[in-house]
Amino acid sequence: MDELICPGCQSDEHLSGERDGEVIHITCSACDVSWDRDLTPRCKTCGNEDVRSAAQAVWEKSRGTQLSIVSVHTVHLCPDCDADKLDRVRESNTPLPPDDNPAAGMR
Ligand SMILES: [Zn+2]
Ligand SMILES: [Zn+2]
Repeated sequence: MDELICPGCQSDEHLSGERDGEVIHITCSACDVSWDRDLTPRCKTCGNEDVRSAAQAVWEKSRGTQLSIVSVHTVHLCPDCDADKLDRVRESNTPLPPDDNPAAGMR
């Protein structure tokens, strides 16, 4: 099992989990961030079950170009299909930006 830490405060002290079938809902009371932890993750592309979980931010565009992270959810990265994302998570140790990046212009 990988470590469970809050992507907001990088701590596991304020976390509480609630199991719901195959998923655990986790909440950090310090940051008010919540996400789901899938108990049976697998790669959607190749079916590999040896995936790594990573946090992905969900942003909300407030006024102008200001972005704020409103929540974080867990995505599962396949060492084969998502190698570049996995590297990024490992290096930065912060939540991935959303796939749909409102700040884009980067494509
Ligand atoms: Zn937190
Ligand atoms: Zn895969």
